[in-house]
Amino acid sequence: MKWLSHIALTGTIAYAVTADPLSAAAAAAGAVLPDRIEGTPQSVGWRTWRSRHRGWSHWPMLYLALIGALGCAETAPYYDPAFFSVLTWLCLGALMHIAEDAVCGKVPLLFPTQKVGIRLFTVGSLREYLFVLLCIFIVYAAQNILRI
Ligand SMILES: [Zn+2]
Repeated sequence: MKWLSHIALTGTIAYAVTADPLSAAAAAAGAVLPDRIEGTPQSVGWRTWRSRHRGWSHWPMLYLALIGALGCAETAPYYDPAFFSVLTWLCLGALMHIAEDAVCGKVPLLFPTQKVGIRLFTVGSLREYLFVLLCIFIVYAAQNILRI
């Protein structure tokens, strides 16, 4: 998916779940984190980028481990709930990015080299934007149904 799609869908889901703009913003920032980590073809060169593309930076276990470590820090004396909430939503945004990439290609699952996913659309296509709009509509509808 394009970054615009990742940010729009992830931010919408996070806001629907939390109703907290800060958490939604953190998730939206995390929604581009895996791609930022792997770099761009312009910044690292085409071959390097291609070899890294959707590799360990898109490995969900990495972000789950970070969320677990953040949860363990709850008892630490330096623990600040707001700061750790932002970090947690950053990681959750990265996890949503990976899930969103899994519907337009393959991403790692249990191991960094194991790739799973389906290609429902091509990245940057009209189908991608329609898919994202449909998902946002479903989130909006589900949120309104659950509130009634
Ligand atoms: Zn990606």
